[in-house]
Amino acid sequence: MEIITVERRILEKNEDIAKENREILRGKNVRTLDLLSSPGSGKTAILEQTLDLLAGRIRMAVIEGDVQTDNDARRIAKHGVPVVQIITHGGCHLDARLVRSAMDSLALDDLDILFIENVGNLVCPAAFDLGEDEKVVILSVTEGDDKPLKYPLAFRAAKTCILNKTDLLPHVEFRSEVFRENVFRINPKATLFEMSAKTKEGFGAWTAWLSDTLLP
Ligand code: MG
Ligand code: ZN
Repeated sequence: MEIITVERRILEKNEDIAKENREILRGKNVRTLDLLSSPGSGKTAILEQTLDLLAGRIRMAVIEGDVQTDNDARRIAKHGVPVVQIITHGGCHLDARLVRSAMDSLALDDLDILFIENVGNLVCPAAFDLGEDEKVVILSVTEGDDKPLKYPLAFRAAKTCILNKTDLLPHVEFRSEVFRENVFRINPKATLFEMSAKTKEGFGAWTAWLSDTLLP
């Protein structure tokens, strides 16, 4: 009983800060995406390709959430965009307060899109509003095609879904057709992109969506 009460209070506070974050970001005309996935599905690799493909056209920045290291932030920094690292020291998700502190060190006036790479975890990040416009859930073909059914909260919280590492499809058991069925069973209105951060296959549709649909 006690634990439930405390947790609810934390979530309520989070909702308040997330609402403020959203007002600040929208006020600055920044579109914000919160990327969710299990560890190893390729969030950082997708970001690296995206940053390169949209460089010079769209002004972007990245907030990196990580349990222990700043390895991913170092990778992102090589692509010439502002990046802020949040190390959660074991914490398994980002919350709105952490994102606010990262936002405070970014020049929001100079941004069109802010990407937030959440901690690799498909469970609790789905429950925390950070003030983003949308959550994007990423799965790779080396994972199970039934993951939308196993993690319905994440696949429902995200309007947009990315299937990554499609270059590996010939070598794994993953059934794309079953995966698509599962995605749309959980979220009938989902937008689904299928791509490979290694070969850049499928990135045209994704970057077109970012530049034409997400941005006003
Ligand atoms: Mg990463
Ligand atoms: Zn957590």
